[in-house]
Amino acid sequence: MQLTITRTETLKPKPDDSNLGFGTIFTDHMFNLDYAPDKGWYDPRIEPYAPLAMDPATMVLHYGQGVFEGLKAYRTASGRIQLFRPRDNFQRLNRSCRILCMPEADEDFALRALKELLTLEKDWVPRASGTSLYVRPTIVATDPFLGVRASHTYRFFIILSPVGAYYAEGFNPVKIWVTQDHVRAVPGGVGEAKTPGNYAASLLAAQKAHDAGYTQVLWLDGIERQYVEEVGSMNIFFVIDDELITPALNGSILQGITRDTVLQLAKSWNLKTTERKIGIDEVVQAHASGKLQEVFGSGTAAVISPVGEIKYGAHVLSIGAGQVGPLAQRLFQAITDIQYGKTEDPMGWIEPVI
Ligand SMILES: *Cc1c(COP(=O)(O)O)cnc(C)c1O
Repeated sequence: MQLTITRTETLKPKPDDSNLGFGTIFTDHMFNLDYAPDKGWYDPRIEPYAPLAMDPATMVLHYGQGVFEGLKAYRTASGRIQLFRPRDNFQRLNRSCRILCMPEADEDFALRALKELLTLEKDWVPRASGTSLYVRPTIVATDPFLGVRASHTYRFFIILSPVGAYYAEGFNPVKIWVTQDHVRAVPGGVGEAKTPGNYAASLLAAQKAHDAGYTQVLWLDGIERQYVEEVGSMNIFFVIDDELITPALNGSILQGITRDTVLQLAKSWNLKTTERKIGIDEVVQAHASGKLQEVFGSGTAAVISPVGEIKYGAHVLSIGAGQVGPLAQRLFQAITDIQYGKTEDPMGWIEPVI
């Protein structure tokens, strides 16, 4: 496929690196690619960033047939631009496509298109410490049709957004609230896919957590309402009695790339790591017996998010006395050092762009 590039005539002013938020500023160009059953994926193009013109009957707007990814491009001290495990993101995008009955995209081509886009937009990758250029690949159903079925046509696009350091106000533990009223996903559902409906389904619980003074929701499994699944839109880890434990992938948990990174690093450090079911009652008991050493979330946006308090019904578990645990600290440092090219990349996770 021949990728065409149309440059914008007027460049936007670049924001100040020192006070970037998240997801509000977009670069000058985007990648677009269309799908039709008779043509397959066709007309790959980089063109000026612009609104999508859509028929109001466009299927994704009504039935949510869509998938997306989230990854980041990092600028190293020497000015190079690099991605972290981007092939894993495009593989996961395709897994999400299979779950949502959507056509898969060629992973090598998608990565090549992303690198072209990043090369054109290189001046948008911010320089300040902890900042990056967030990458959002998305595929949506585009048939103008009000019946419920899989769409025949699709649009794949990639947009870029310069984002600030997640921990601009310091790497501080957050308070999380265990919801007993809501579930995020169930085995056999679409919890393993990065698809818009999962996030719409999480909003009410998140609002209740915020109203109660908590930053994130801790999700339990949808059947027994006992086993821990995820925290907000991150995977979750516990350190109990010197063992690093994370819920096993069970069909309703998103297969986080940061989760896998944490597991691989911890194993390479000879830590005892276990993927298994972990009940909230076990967490409460571990806390009561003084064995709950650390809790943290993992995801691309925050990398590692230390948890300082868990509220579950009448239980309020305080973890680590308001301090970030040593393993959370070590993982955050190790992962960000690789992402920003401050250290060796023994696992081959870095994909150079330019
Ligand atoms: C994206 C996401 C994660 C984290 O995945 P990463 O690949 O580590 O960014 C975890 N849970 C949910 C629900 C997610 O959407």
